[in-house]
Amino acid sequence: MNFIADYNLQAEPTEDSLLLMFENNTLLVEQTGDGFQVPSVTGSGFPLVDELDLHYIGSIADKHCFAVLMESGIKIPEGFQFLSLIQLFGSIEDPQFAAACFAYHIIPWHWNSKYCGRCGSLTQFLAEERGKQCVECGLVLYPGISPCIIVAVVRNRKELLLAELNRSDRMRYSVLAGFVETGETLEHCVRREVREEVGIEVRNIKYFGSQPWAFSQSLMVAFTAEYDSGEITVDGKEVRNAGWFLFDQLPSLPSKASISRQLIDWFIEEYGN
Ligand SMILES: [Zn+2]
Repeated sequence: MNFIADYNLQAEPTEDSLLLMFENNTLLVEQTGDGFQVPSVTGSGFPLVDELDLHYIGSIADKHCFAVLMESGIKIPEGFQFLSLIQLFGSIEDPQFAAACFAYHIIPWHWNSKYCGRCGSLTQFLAEERGKQCVECGLVLYPGISPCIIVAVVRNRKELLLAELNRSDRMRYSVLAGFVETGETLEHCVRREVREEVGIEVRNIKYFGSQPWAFSQSLMVAFTAEYDSGEITVDGKEVRNAGWFLFDQLPSLPSKASISRQLIDWFIEEYGN
C-alpha cells in the first residue's frame, strides 16, 4: 500500500477520502493511540468540506486523497492538531507521509500560479496533466522542481566530511548540499559546491540515490565522492564550520527522514570498522 500520485479534475471526495489540510507549513492530523493520522472526510469534523478548494492528488489503496490550504487561525476540533511534516515523520504511516509531502509541493504551486507570469491574466488547470495554462496568451505552467545535489565526501576510506550550516539555528552537522545552477551537470555541481563551501577538490563521484524534498520544492540527487586535494576552508556564508569525522565520533546528525542521513548511514556501514 503506497501513495500513488494522480491527476483527475473530475475526482470528487467521498466519505472515506483522506483530507490533507494545511495551515501554512503544517498539516492537520488526528492523534491516534501512539501516533497520528490524516483524517477522512467524515472524520475531520469540518462541516463545510463541500466549500473547500480541494485538490485531488492521488490515492492510498482505494482511498482518494485531497489537499487544501486552510486559512490561518482556523478553529480545529478536539483531538486534532497542526504539525510540521518533520514532526510527523515516523509517527504517521509512510503512505500518508508521502501523500503529505506531495501535497506540500503542489499546494504552494497552485497558489503561486494563479496568474500568468507573462501577461498577468488568470490561469486554469490543464485537462490531462498537472499543469495550468493562461486563458489569454496560452502560456503553460508546470509545478517547478529545483534539482539539488547532496554529497558524502570520504577521505582515506575512514573520515567523512560534515559541515555545520549557517542557516541552521541548531548545532547540527550534515553532508554538503546545494542547488544545481543553470547549464551545470550534476557532477559539475558537486565539484563546485564542495569547492565553494569548504575549499577542497573531490574525485570519483558516484550516484547514490535521490529523494523528492518537498520542503524546498527540490529533488535531492545524492552522490558519494572521494577527497582529492586541498585543506578545509569554510566560506563563512553557507557553512560556518566543517571537519573530517570518524564513524564513531560523529556529531549531532540530521533526521532519519532525509537522504543526508541515509548517506551518513551508508558511510558508517561502509567504513565503520
Ligand atoms: Zn498569459
